[in-house]
Amino acid sequence: RFSTAAAVEKPITPPVQAVYTQHLINGQFVDAASGRTFPAYDPRTEEVIAHVAEGDAEDINRAVAAARKAFDEGPWPKMTPYERSRILLRFADLVEKHNDELAALETWNNGKPYEQSAKSELPMLSRLFHYYAGWADKIHGLTVPGDGNHHVQVLHEPIGVAGQIIPWNFPLIMFAWKVGPALACGNTIVLKTAEQTPLTALYAAKLFHEAGLPPGVLNVVSGYGPTAGAALASHMDVDKIAFTGSTDTGKIVLELAARSNLKPVTLELGGKSPFIVCEDADVDKAVELAHFALFFNQGQCCCAGSRTYVHELVYDEFIEKAKARAKRRVVGDPFKQGVEQGPQIDSEQFQKVLRYIRSGIESNATLECGGDRFGSKGYFIQPTVFSNVQDDMLIAQDEIFGPVQSILKFKNLDEVIRRANTSRYGLAAGVFTKNIDTANTLSRALRAGTVWVNCFDVFDAAIPFGGYKMSGIGREKGIYSLNNYLQVKAVVTPLKNPAW
Ligand code: NAD
Repeated sequence: RFSTAAAVEKPITPPVQAVYTQHLINGQFVDAASGRTFPAYDPRTEEVIAHVAEGDAEDINRAVAAARKAFDEGPWPKMTPYERSRILLRFADLVEKHNDELAALETWNNGKPYEQSAKSELPMLSRLFHYYAGWADKIHGLTVPGDGNHHVQVLHEPIGVAGQIIPWNFPLIMFAWKVGPALACGNTIVLKTAEQTPLTALYAAKLFHEAGLPPGVLNVVSGYGPTAGAALASHMDVDKIAFTGSTDTGKIVLELAARSNLKPVTLELGGKSPFIVCEDADVDKAVELAHFALFFNQGQCCCAGSRTYVHELVYDEFIEKAKARAKRRVVGDPFKQGVEQGPQIDSEQFQKVLRYIRSGIESNATLECGGDRFGSKGYFIQPTVFSNVQDDMLIAQDEIFGPVQSILKFKNLDEVIRRANTSRYGLAAGVFTKNIDTANTLSRALRAGTVWVNCFDVFDAAIPFGGYKMSGIGREKGIYSLNNYLQVKAVVTPLKNPAW
């Protein structure tokens, strides 16, 4: 999917500026109640690009009050599903119209390659809203027979005010996965963006209002997790919370939800996904896919194929080619054409990834290439490959969230199934084989929410995504995410003449 050609000097940056930096509450841009701001950075240069309103409990209270009013008094939940669908479609069209500005803003604040933002993620954003616009007028309940003396209807109603907390690795895609189904079902929303990447969700929410979304339906608050995020998760007037981020923070969110009003929680958390290269694999293709599975988005993917298990018969050839591929990876300014890898998101993540690289070296994994920062400015890291990795090493167990590939050797299927499944995570897995029986065995045996066979990171709007074990609770996308945002009500009425 990505060019391996060397980066050309020509920048492809459309004009980019942070136009919206305040909270968007009740259809209005407003300063933080405290008047405070916090900096947003360009991870290429480590420079501040905007000062953004810093929300805390008071801002969350205001946003929840607006969302509550918009839910309780309407018009949103009471509009016809068709009217809601039309607004989602108009928003999707506006995303297409503003594709390049949104993509530039995403890259500026996140560091991901502009070509990835503009040609892959923005089209995915509008596609997701087309998909959920399609659902808005197809959500309906059931009638059930009961024991025959009653007429029983089961209504599917919006759940109410949804609190949504999103991470920084895919700011707009995470916005879409959360906002799309919630709005299609008729809910109102308070969304808290990640403190690293506050800019694009504000821009997108502004476009939603241009598309005709009534005030108070979608409120966006910027701010830090322990203040704004925790206030949202523990708010008594929030009816549901959806979170994507680290497993540790997911546990806090679950606890805050339980200790407040027992609001239902969906969690999309960390991963340590196996990518299994079988003995029959075309090694060149396997190397390319395993490389993509790990290095895509600077390695900052919850589902990154971060344990590359390779059959012993093709192991040596695989290592040589994986190393050569990583050395060819084009690292640099994400606004330049042909660049495959930009900077990590911030100083904290940059330091964390370097610590894991040191841990790999200290635990005697073989450093095949990379292993250090790239350049002297910005949060760039050299594409790094370790071979001879053992299951008990930290780099084989923890989510590194960076461009560090760990390659492990295996002998047979039973062994690799057992080893792949020993992780505390279960988000995704990759399988690379030409043998249909091997593909079927592995895809059924692996305890993961997604198994990609001879492909990776396929994220169609209709495909459910979520984790087993400590990778989360619930599923997003597809029909499954609708249930997260619906209440089920049984309405029972006696039948005057049960015979009919
Ligand atoms: P995080 O989980 O702390 O942050 C994700 C979101 O949760 C942000 O919006 C943050 O403000 C919010 N948050 C943080 N503390 C909170 C709290 N106490 N209450 C409510 N909300 C809170 O992730 P991070 O610190 O940015 O990154 C740490 C690690 O998490 C990464 O190295 C990576 O391993 C993992 N991560 C995973 C994903 C994913 O998609 N699964 C995304 C980002 C980070």
